[in-house]
Amino acid sequence: MDVTSILDKLNAAQEEAVTSDRQHLLVLAGAGSGKTRVLVHRIAWKIQVDNISPYSILAVTFTNKAAREMRERIDELMGMSLRGMWVGTFHGLAHRLLKAHWKDVKLPENFQILDSDDQLRLVKRVMRSMDLDEQRWPPKQAQWWINGQKDEGLRAAHIQETGDPHMATMLRIYREYEEVCNRLGVIDFAELLLRALELWRDHPAVLDHYQQRFQHILVDEFQDTNAVQYAWLRLLAGKVSGVTAVGDDDQSIYGWRGAKVENILHYERNYPDTHTVKLEQNYRSTSNILTAANAVISKNAERMGKSLWTDSGEGEPIALYAAFNEHDEARYIADRLQSWVNQGNLREDSAILYRSNAQSRVLEAALLQADIPYRIYGGQRFYERLEIKNALSYLRMMMNCHDDVAFERVVNVPPRGIGDRTVETIRALAREDQISMWRASEKIVTEKRMPGRAINAVAVFLELINEMSGQLEELELYEQAENAIQRSGLIEMHKREKGERGQARVENLEELVGACRNFEAEDKDLPILPQFLDQVALDSGDGQADEDQDAVQLMTLHSAKGLEFPLVFIAGVEENLFPHKMSLDEPGRLEEERRLAYVGITRAMQKLYLTFAESRSIYGTESFNSVSRFVRDIPKDVIEEVRLQNTISRPTSYAGSGSMHSDSGDETGFSLGQGVNHQVYGEGVILNFEGNGPRARVHVRFAEVGTKILILASANLMAL
Ligand code: ATP
Ligand code: MG
Repeated sequence: MDVTSILDKLNAAQEEAVTSDRQHLLVLAGAGSGKTRVLVHRIAWKIQVDNISPYSILAVTFTNKAAREMRERIDELMGMSLRGMWVGTFHGLAHRLLKAHWKDVKLPENFQILDSDDQLRLVKRVMRSMDLDEQRWPPKQAQWWINGQKDEGLRAAHIQETGDPHMATMLRIYREYEEVCNRLGVIDFAELLLRALELWRDHPAVLDHYQQRFQHILVDEFQDTNAVQYAWLRLLAGKVSGVTAVGDDDQSIYGWRGAKVENILHYERNYPDTHTVKLEQNYRSTSNILTAANAVISKNAERMGKSLWTDSGEGEPIALYAAFNEHDEARYIADRLQSWVNQGNLREDSAILYRSNAQSRVLEAALLQADIPYRIYGGQRFYERLEIKNALSYLRMMMNCHDDVAFERVVNVPPRGIGDRTVETIRALAREDQISMWRASEKIVTEKRMPGRAINAVAVFLELINEMSGQLEELELYEQAENAIQRSGLIEMHKREKGERGQARVENLEELVGACRNFEAEDKDLPILPQFLDQVALDSGDGQADEDQDAVQLMTLHSAKGLEFPLVFIAGVEENLFPHKMSLDEPGRLEEERRLAYVGITRAMQKLYLTFAESRSIYGTESFNSVSRFVRDIPKDVIEEVRLQNTISRPTSYAGSGSMHSDSGDETGFSLGQGVNHQVYGEGVILNFEGNGPRARVHVRFAEVGTKILILASANLMAL
């Protein structure tokens, strides 16, 4: 039998893993060492050499895209298309099982899956029926709590009360929520996994069937499995099936979502007969990139310890660009991308990675301006995000209260007691009288056409919008946006959400205020708000690049796991942004950030750019962060500081102390901390100098208007 296509292009350790005939196999290895490749080749090997049926294989990947790629790779290796093999994500596989066994798990045949927003709406409904005050018990928190329990495999009935009143309430909500879900026949994401676990646990005959069938179970990205997923795997594997798990403890980045890297340790304990293989050669990246990645991750204390090397040559140095601000950073990236394409490369071989969703807005703007098609992987474009659409709807209502689409969107967001029935009454009246929903609401309120409570709630909404639009004339655009997110209660609503998602939404909303601050009206004589909204509509009208269009990929560092690109940019490598400010006080979270940096760096094959901005307005405020500690951990000899002529003329000294560094300003006649007066902005204090000569800039914090960056030569500052 010719197995060269399978064993060709495998090193000795990889071959050992692929061909191992021990029942269980654990491949524990660093990034780019061929773990995913081993998984794919092992499947091909089992089918072709061990003659097992594809029907007896179940492979778990991290994304649906990875599942598709895995199938394609196997088909390619085998030279034919295979059927019957199950390849998918944990959620996808669980869904498939439940579809087949809906009766056993007491679901209706056409059960519906709730996405996270649907789930939240349902939690709220449940809480309302229990007369729980949403201010005191934020529904998001309840949702987070419920999902956390499910991720641990716990139903309400399993949970012991401890006497803690907070927990008692959460538990009551969980109980009630479970009941409503069962009654409605709906199922959330965490429930998919839990229900699939219970299917095994409570139905021995079903479990037996699948245990007989899936003799070979293979799991990629094993370090990010949570408790339920691991329990599910263990039950399925039973005593007979073979389990192949591949993973990297250094790439465990979903601890905040319940993933347990300890599962790797448990695995070796649970399956004593495991053959463990370590892969140490990296095939993905140049040695410069690898040196950087190794240096960064070596600072973590909690590691299983692996070494990684490559013989692919040094390659180009890692470029480090210190931008003036986020716009300069985005322009620089767009410019580098353009020359990459001009050299005959494909855009899709490049990626821009960032820590926070909100960073994409400025990057998107620069790419749009440079006419570079882009795609946001695993996410939405800035202006299409739910919280941003809500905030824009408030702005639209402030401008024109007869905008029915905006009205519908925010009339009860955040919740203010205007239920579906009330909205339906408003809608019906609007239809009947051919008036806007706003007018219909006014009519309903003045003519008292509904019960008192509903009328009050609608009146409050009308009042809110009236008040906000009454101030349009007096306020700057960014203040209007602040109003839209603050007074409406939108930002408060997301602040009460727990976890990264709520945090990201808050950041995005603040970023919208930042966008407004920077927006320049084309026609200064016309009101600015409509001009801003038009621009936004135009920008979002461009849509993402088509499926088959060559486009650069934008994504968060989290969603880049498992992927690789010849050219990678990591934008915003600054303290407080990456590592994220929320992680700075907790060693555990800081280690997770560091692993995320390791994941990011190791996505790059040929060339890596790290960029940071000396001043950045993000989340609506201006900040001056020093370069990330992760950059400072990279040995200097693999980094090349890039400086564009005439932009930054002083060294960025990234390996320095980490405090904000600055030119002395000696020749300017001013000094740091000095009080100054500006004709328009009034009194302020000098925070920093940038550059020399005619382009030298000065950062001044003004008492009235906050921090501004001014060109020294033309700012006409007076010393105080
Ligand atoms: P990650 O930890 O990021 O998921 P990984 O360990 O799964 O990485 P792979 O994606 O399987 O690594 O492999 C990284 C790259 O190296 C891929 O482009 C793969 O095709 C290539 N590669 C792996 N092994 C070899 C080999 N023996 N010879 C040549 N190329 C290889
Ligand atoms: Mg992989």
